[in-house]
Amino acid sequence: MPHSDDIKVPHPRYSRQILFSGIGSKGQSRVVDSRVAVVGCGALGAMQASLLVRAGVGTLRIIDRDFVEESNLQRQILFDEEDVQAVLPKAIAAEKKLQAANSLVKVEGIVEDVNASSVDKLLSGFDLIVDASDNFDVRFLVNDFSVKNRVPWIYGACVGSYGLTFPIMPGEGPCLRCLFESAHSAGVSASCDTAGIIGPVVAVVAAMQVAEALKMLSGVHENISRKIATIDMWNNRYQSIDLPLPQPDCPCCARHEFSFLDGSLGTDVTTLCGRNSIQIRRRGGTNIDLNNLAQKLAPLGRLEQNRFLLRAAIDGYQLAVFPDGRAIIYGTDDPAIGRSLYARYIGN
Ligand SMILES: [Zn+2]
Repeated sequence: MPHSDDIKVPHPRYSRQILFSGIGSKGQSRVVDSRVAVVGCGALGAMQASLLVRAGVGTLRIIDRDFVEESNLQRQILFDEEDVQAVLPKAIAAEKKLQAANSLVKVEGIVEDVNASSVDKLLSGFDLIVDASDNFDVRFLVNDFSVKNRVPWIYGACVGSYGLTFPIMPGEGPCLRCLFESAHSAGVSASCDTAGIIGPVVAVVAAMQVAEALKMLSGVHENISRKIATIDMWNNRYQSIDLPLPQPDCPCCARHEFSFLDGSLGTDVTTLCGRNSIQIRRRGGTNIDLNNLAQKLAPLGRLEQNRFLLRAAIDGYQLAVFPDGRAIIYGTDDPAIGRSLYARYIGN
């Protein structure tokens, strides 16, 4: 075959993705120009970030407030035993490994708590936000940011063998507050720290989120899912249901009340001076069923309960939880750790 200068040789790194007709070289160059933020670097975030960095996004920011722990290794594929020994922040450990996987991508690991005061700084300037958070306060905050700034985001959650994901496209479909009440009943929803989780469900949810991300980033709008996908890998149930229409009276996407951004809803964290403790209060008043919470926490530590409060000793911390959803966490004066423990053990 005569050599022709007209034949463009694709970059071998992305050749298989370019060969895929859904993306092609045009789609790939869009992916390469894109900026994606991943909120959370637990199991979902680690998997999403790996796939996105390998797919060649231009910039990937991954934000997380926690450190790598031994119990993460079962499913959080970016981390290893050295990270546990070094007590590395997840975002830092992730950045190092992601950068080694693809030096063409600008990887930013940010060790921060995503909250009403930090969200603008952390998420501004990105084309897409991928949810890998572990609680509804952060998701509602991301939702407010997304609707206000018209940036799409992709919801993802899993616990046990169950997972759930759907994309949120501001202006084109419902937002998170069209789908869920903001005052989510704390203490009712299970978390991986109370109900456990298996790795495969994480891999599937993260993969579905990144597939949607690649469609959005490569500009294949018509293929973006308009469905809620739910999977239960232990009980073999896989469902896909249409996203509902936006609620005409939605406080967020219809009335543009960004209550989580302005701090009128969400979590209020106060350091109790000199007591090595944190108080966490949910704005908007969410009552909590202490009996239900006690059942959830019983396998995890020592509990004491009366009709005023539930006290739990878990992981070297003492948690005192009150029926109005308020909690005092003894053993730390770091608000980020307090939020993290609240999300893990009390509810989200
Ligand atoms: Zn809405």
